[in-house]
Amino acid sequence: MKYQNFFIPKKIIGEIISHALNNDPNESCGILQGKGNTTTRFHSLRNIHEAPQNRYTIDPVELMNTEKICDEDGEAIIGIMHSHTHTQAYPSETDVKNALTSGYIDQKYIIVSLVEKTRPIVKAFEINNHGEISEIFIDFDGPKYISR
Ligand SMILES: [Zn+2]
Repeated sequence: MKYQNFFIPKKIIGEIISHALNNDPNESCGILQGKGNTTTRFHSLRNIHEAPQNRYTIDPVELMNTEKICDEDGEAIIGIMHSHTHTQAYPSETDVKNALTSGYIDQKYIIVSLVEKTRPIVKAFEINNHGEISEIFIDFDGPKYISR
């Protein structure tokens, strides 16, 4: 697996954490827009799963709109974010299955763990087409105050 960092500006990491906390105890989800490995914008999207405390399904209409915005900006969906409200920031079996069936394989999976509400953990992963998980280092601007 080649080593490459994934860049998320501090301001956007803040937006991602806020989105996760605002939806707690439900899982939240969203899309990271950008180019290559650089995030330029976060879209907080609606979780329409019927059991949102343990699962997520991104609202397909909002997802389509987000894809359209990315296209218009000459960028792409480079990351898919969701939160774990009571488990660690690591892809679950369901997350891996979903990645494989959704076809979003080139995207990074950003997971926010709210196990400790005052100390959210943000991690990024790649899931390849064999369902293998590898963690990707997140880079950001400014002081490095976020736990890894
Ligand atoms: Zn998950």
